Amino acid sequence: MNRPSVVVVGGGIVGCMTAMQLQQRGYRVTVVERNQIAAQTSGESSWAGAGIIFPLLPWLYQPVVNHLALAGAQAYPAICQRLWHDTGINPECVQSGMLIRPPFDLVAAHAWAAQYQIAIEVLDDALWIDSVLQVRNPRLLQALKAWLLLHDVTLLEHTQLMPLEESAHPLTRWQTTTGDWLEADAFVVTSGAWSFELLKQTAMQLEIKPMRGQMLLYHLPPNTLKHMLYHNGFYMLQRLDGHVLAGSSLEDVGFDTGVTAHMRAEMQAKAEALCPALKQAPILQHWSGLRPGTPHNIPTIGRHPNIENLFLNTGHFRYGVTMAPACASQVVALVDAYVESD
Ligand SMILES: Cc1cc2nc3c(=O)[nH]c(=O)nc-3n(C[C@H](O)[C@H](O)[C@H](O)COP(=O)(O)OP(=O)(O)OC[C@H]3O[C@@H](n4cnc5c(N)ncnc54)[C@H](O)[C@@H]3O)c2cc1C
Repeated sequence: MNRPSVVVVGGGIVGCMTAMQLQQRGYRVTVVERNQIAAQTSGESSWAGAGIIFPLLPWLYQPVVNHLALAGAQAYPAICQRLWHDTGINPECVQSGMLIRPPFDLVAAHAWAAQYQIAIEVLDDALWIDSVLQVRNPRLLQALKAWLLLHDVTLLEHTQLMPLEESAHPLTRWQTTTGDWLEADAFVVTSGAWSFELLKQTAMQLEIKPMRGQMLLYHLPPNTLKHMLYHNGFYMLQRLDGHVLAGSSLEDVGFDTGVTAHMRAEMQAKAEALCPALKQAPILQHWSGLRPGTPHNIPTIGRHPNIENLFLNTGHFRYGVTMAPACASQVVALVDAYVESD
């Protein structure tokens, strides 16, 4: 018997993680990406992010965000180990912990820690959370891409799908911008900030809009920053090879993927204030990515209201890397339920 086929639309972290879990459940999977998967291309969020596996100030978020984030954090060590073992590419999942400098709401932090059973510690006037992980998200994407190829997942890069028009139910095929049609038994939209554009001609109401984030890259001797640092909406972290990321901005500027001198100067001043050693270090890179912004940071994981074999896993806003494993499990369970009922 032919295994059911699934097309995943968008090859960012959410699409790749969804494709991995679909493959593990036995589906024939195709990922369609209009650019190149795991490359630094303008605008996409997954390469551009910091890879902190934690919702910054989690007590500000609703339980659904905390549950998805904590489930993701639990899953990452084993996923990264598996990817490293199978592909030879190390996603650098490291428990470097996070130090949160004031101001923060200590009462809310304690309540959150008790609710989710996370150990927190007050050190002088700062808050230390030892369990926070980071992953090197560009490497994670490279490892996922290699893993998908090793496991016979078809990757259609440089292939863009047209905005969907109201379709036959179920959806049997979806047209690319070059006029070809992709056929499948089910489709999953994981196209980040572009998801609304893709589905707005259907009955799907999606509150997703691009929210730009700019980031700076430096280099310091490895281990200069022993842990991740957060202060007043700004964070810094160091990779194993010494690269330091500092960011990020949160800007509502539509699909503008540029970077600005003003934000560069602002972030540089904040980075140097948190880590004076950076005054002697040149900025190596400055980039931006478009987060799929959603109210309260709550992603849409579900089935299209009219098209029974079209699923969504999108709108992860600031924490898509963190939430990707748990959100992938949820959407794969929906695909399973559809296939079993068919
Ligand atoms: C500066 C910055 C810092 C961040 N830091 C963190 C962090 O520390 N931790 C964390 O958890 N999250 C972080 N994030 C957020 C995280 O990166 C996003 O939530 C996540 O990457 C969203 O993943 P995605 O796969 O949905 O979107 P994307 O990575 O944007 O992928 C969507 C893909 O769909 C493709 N696509 C769109 N339309 C089509 C089409 N019509 N046909 C084919 N392909 C299409 C796009 O080309 C794109 O590759 C950060 C984001 C930014 C910008």
